[in-house]
Amino acid sequence: MAVLSTREQMEANESIPVNARAVLRIDLDALRANWRKVNEATGRAECAAVIKADAYGLGLEQICRALTEEGCRTFFTATIDEGRRLREVNPGAIIYILDGLLPGAAEYYSGFDLRPALSSLAEIREWAAYCRERDTKLAAAIHINTGMNRLGLPESEVMELVAHPELLQDFRLSLVMSHLACADVPEHPMNAAQRAEFERLTAMLPPAPRSLANSGGVFLGPDYHYDLVRPGIVLYGGRAHEKRPNPMRTVVRLSAKVLQVFEVPPGQTVGYNATYVIDKPTRVATIACGYADGFLRALSGPTGNPGPVGYIGPHPVRVIGRVSMDLITVDVSEVPPDQVYRGAWVEVMGDRVTLDDLTDRAGTIGYELLSRLGRRVHRIYEGAGS
Ligand SMILES: *Cc1c(COP(=O)(O)O)cnc(C)c1O
Repeated sequence: MAVLSTREQMEANESIPVNARAVLRIDLDALRANWRKVNEATGRAECAAVIKADAYGLGLEQICRALTEEGCRTFFTATIDEGRRLREVNPGAIIYILDGLLPGAAEYYSGFDLRPALSSLAEIREWAAYCRERDTKLAAAIHINTGMNRLGLPESEVMELVAHPELLQDFRLSLVMSHLACADVPEHPMNAAQRAEFERLTAMLPPAPRSLANSGGVFLGPDYHYDLVRPGIVLYGGRAHEKRPNPMRTVVRLSAKVLQVFEVPPGQTVGYNATYVIDKPTRVATIACGYADGFLRALSGPTGNPGPVGYIGPHPVRVIGRVSMDLITVDVSEVPPDQVYRGAWVEVMGDRVTLDDLTDRAGTIGYELLSRLGRRVHRIYEGAGS
């Protein structure tokens, strides 16, 4: 099969409006395949999906629809507002709000059938009181702390629940969950320690479905799966475990248009602070994507060095100089001149330069890059259900 160059691919797609300067392609088939893979890996445990922060920047509504078609029934978001958006596209979903219960906000949850992940006795009491007032046993999760020390009932509060089971009698406890701090590092001793703590604490509580694993936890093995797993990043093509091959399919590709091409003679510099010095005649293309679009400023090469590689068709092109708010500059000296022109497309993230490659280089994680993809990047959803 003929491999299309980036140009041919982009130009074949007439759905890109002429005013689009940068394009994010989101492959919903790959997303669904990634969910299926996790679902298969977790056997009888239910596979939910974490779609907080606008589904890690990829579009909550579209991601939710595609995963629902694939069979996903339970979703986790961070905020009430995300939960309400989700409810609009998915009337039947089970939706948990990881923020827990915001004070005084219970009716915002019940009105949209959202389940808080209650993370303190104060939240539990407030939810229980609300349920008593309305005389309905609304569902909620409780989130217990097993060592992350971020959200969740501390052991002392779990013990209060054990001593006073009536605290749980006015609502329906639909899930007991905890979160792993180091699941991206499989050999980290905290994984087993948190799992043991989860076993110990949940054994004292009334029986309820249990959930411990995020993406990293899923791939720690069946001991971590319990009744429900909560993957996020792997669904979107990021890796679960640091420094391991990534078996997930690429979901996100980012390309930007060339705005200008020019020759820079030796001795001159490129970009802010003149960090990149030209040592031989160089053809430079300026492309329409910067840190306001989500191409992290930390991806600028260290002074004097080029940054990451992009691609024009099959040709690698290095990012040079600082990443600025709206623009990056690439060295296109090695690309046949007829392929670098005003309006040509440069792929800056995809199968060849992956999310993981870029974020390793920037000293951050895929979660940050994805969730900061700019609103002004034109989005194209590809694949079934798009
Ligand atoms: C974000 C989050 C997840 C998903 O984490 P990934 O590493 O993206 O799989 C699961 N559980 C909780 C509590 C989270 O905050």
